[in-house]
Amino acid sequence: MRDADVIVVGAGLTGLRAALEMVNAGLSVLVVEQSSGVGGRMRTTAHDGFLLDHGFQVLLAGYPELQALQGLDALRLAPFDSGARIHFNGGFADFFDPRRHPSKIGSLVRSPVLSFTDLPRLFFYASLFPLRHPGPTGESTDASIARFGFSERFASRFLRPFLAAILLDPTLSSDSAAARFYLRVFSGSSAVLPAQGVQALPSLLAQQVGVSHILLNSRVDSVQANEVVLASGEALRCQRVVVCSDAPGAAILGGPEQTMPQRHSRTIYFSADEPPFSEKLVCLNGNGSGALSSVAVPSNVQPSYAPKGKALVSATLLGAHAEAPEDQVRTAALRELTEWFGPSAASWRHLKTFTIPASVPARPRMETGAKVHNRVVYAGDYLSYGSQNGALQAGREAATLVLQGFDR
Ligand SMILES: Cc1cc2nc3c(=O)[nH]c(=O)nc-3n(C[C@H](O)[C@H](O)[C@H](O)COP(=O)(O)OP(=O)(O)OC[C@H]3O[C@@H](n4cnc5c(N)ncnc54)[C@H](O)[C@@H]3O)c2cc1C
Repeated sequence: MRDADVIVVGAGLTGLRAALEMVNAGLSVLVVEQSSGVGGRMRTTAHDGFLLDHGFQVLLAGYPELQALQGLDALRLAPFDSGARIHFNGGFADFFDPRRHPSKIGSLVRSPVLSFTDLPRLFFYASLFPLRHPGPTGESTDASIARFGFSERFASRFLRPFLAAILLDPTLSSDSAAARFYLRVFSGSSAVLPAQGVQALPSLLAQQVGVSHILLNSRVDSVQANEVVLASGEALRCQRVVVCSDAPGAAILGGPEQTMPQRHSRTIYFSADEPPFSEKLVCLNGNGSGALSSVAVPSNVQPSYAPKGKALVSATLLGAHAEAPEDQVRTAALRELTEWFGPSAASWRHLKTFTIPASVPARPRMETGAKVHNRVVYAGDYLSYGSQNGALQAGREAATLVLQGFDR
C-alpha cells in the first residue's frame, strides 16, 4: 500500500499513536519513517548480550496516556522502587517515597535528605497540580523550588538533582509546570522498564497499527496538504498529512516552529561483573558539582538487560557534559564513578555511548500537542512537553483533529 487516506510522517510514539487512533476509526493510514526501525527517541539496541536503550529512559506507569493503551501486559513491565539513592559528601543516602514504601517510613526520621516540613510542601507542590493541559506557570523550576520553601538539604540533595535528571535540564530553567506534573505522576506510580527495552512500547503500537502500514528507510523531503514527497523523488497522495517528527524535523518540513532550543543528553553504558548496588533505585548526584547526573543499573530491575553473570550500568550526563568531546567526558565520568562506587568501577568495560543533542524540547508548554499549519497537521512532544506522555497525547490529539475534519 503506498497512497492512503492519511500519511503520517514519523514512527515515534506521536506518529504511532496518531496512526493507531486513525486505523481504529477505519481510515487507511501509511506511516513513513526515515530510519530503519520504529520508536524515534525510544530505540533499543542489542549489544553483546545487553539491551541498550538509546539514552537511559524509564516509562512512568502512572502516565494517563500510557494507561489508555491496550496490550501493555506484553511489555512485562518491572518497577524501580519509588525513591532515589543520593550521592553527597562522599557517601550515599536513600530516600523512599513513604506513601509507596510505608515500611521505610522510619528511615525518614533522621534522614539527611529531608526535614519534616518537606513532605507536606511536596504535596502542595505536586499532588494538586493538574494532569491535563495545565499550561505553563511562567515560573522556572528553580524559582518555584525556592518559592515553595523546601529545606536547603531537600532541595539540593534530592529535588534539584531529581528534577534535573527527569527534565534533562541541569539549569532547572524549564517552566515548573513540567516538574510539578512529573512529581505528581511519580508520587502516584512507579518508573518501569519493559523486559525488552523501552523500544518495546513503540513496537507494540506498531504491531497494533499493522506493520504493513509502516514504510521504513524512507525520508520525507517535503509535505503539502495532500502530498508527501520522499527523498527518492516518489510522491505519495493522500487526503491529510500528519507530521509527527521531533522539533528539528518539523522545522525542515515547514512546521509552525522554526527554532526551538533542545536539551542534550549523553548516556554511557558499562558492563560490570557485579552491580555497584543491588537496590532498584536510580542514583542521583546531590553534590552540586561533577559530570554525572544519574547512575542506574537497569539489570537490577530487568535482568534481561544484561547477560547472565553481568550487570548493566548506565551513567547519564547533561548540558555541557553531553556536548563536550566524548573521550574527555568518559574519562571524567569514570573517575567520578570510581569516587562514588570504589575502585571496582575502574574495571567496568565500556559498551557504548549515546549522545542525543535533541533529547527533549527545552520549553515545555504543557498544552495541546497538535495543530494545523498550512493545512498540514503537526504534532509532537515539542508542542506539548518532552515526555512519552506528551508524545502519546500529541498523537491522540492529531488523530482527533484529522477525524473531526475528515471528508469521507
Ligand atoms: C535520552 C532520553 C531520555 C528520555 N527519558 C524520558 C523518560 O524517562 N520519560 C519520558 O516520559 N520521556 C523521556 N524522554 C522523552 C521521550 O522519549 C520523547 O518525548 C518521545 O519519545 C518523543 O516521541 P515523538 O514521537 O514525539 O518524537 P520522536 O521519537 O523523535 O519520533 C519522531 C520520528 O520522526 C522521524 N522523522 C523525522 N523527520 C522525518 C522525515 N523527514 N521523514 C521521515 N521520518 C522522519 C524520526 O526518525 C523519528 O522516528 C527521553 C528522551 C531521550 C532522548
